[in-house]
Amino acid sequence: MRPINELIWHCSATRESQHVSVSTIRKGHMDNGWSDIGYHKVVYLDGSVHDGRPMTKVGAHVKGHNTNTLGYCYIGGVAKDGKTAKDTRTPEQKVTMERLTREAVRDYGVTKVSGHNQYSTKACPSFNVRSDIGLKGKPKAHWIGRVILAIIGAVVALFVYKKRK
Ligand SMILES: [Zn+2]
Repeated sequence: MRPINELIWHCSATRESQHVSVSTIRKGHMDNGWSDIGYHKVVYLDGSVHDGRPMTKVGAHVKGHNTNTLGYCYIGGVAKDGKTAKDTRTPEQKVTMERLTREAVRDYGVTKVSGHNQYSTKACPSFNVRSDIGLKGKPKAHWIGRVILAIIGAVVALFVYKKRK
C-alpha cells in the first residue's frame, strides 16, 4: 500500500435525490483523458459504498493533493435548481460517511480529514467536513486523559485508605 495520511471528501456535484452511478462518473472522468474514475470510493444515496479507483493507486481529485491521500465522493451536493451548492446528504449517506472516515483512520493511517473546499474555491463537498465528520481531537489525547484519570483515582483511593487506617 502507498503511504496515506489524509482523506479528502468530495461530492458528485449532481442534483439532490438524483442517482448517479460509478460507471457514469468514471465515463465522465475518462472523457477528461484520465486513466480511470478520480475517486477511490463513492457513496450512493442509499448509503451503499461502491469502489472507484483501487486504493493502491494515486487518485485524481484535488490538484496537488493526490499523492498521499484518499478521495471519497458522495452522490449529490447541488440543490434541485442544478446550480446552488447544497448539503444534500441523506441520513444513510451521513452514517456511511462517518463509518468510512473512521475506517480510513483505522485501516489506512489517515490523520487528517478534509473537504475539497479547503484546497479550492469550489463549494465541493457542500458541507464543512472539518466540523462535521472531521477528526475531533487526536485519539491519543483520549487515551492519555483516561490514564491521568486512573492515576488520580488511585491516588485518591490510597489517600482515603491511609486515612481510615
Ligand atoms: Zn471535489
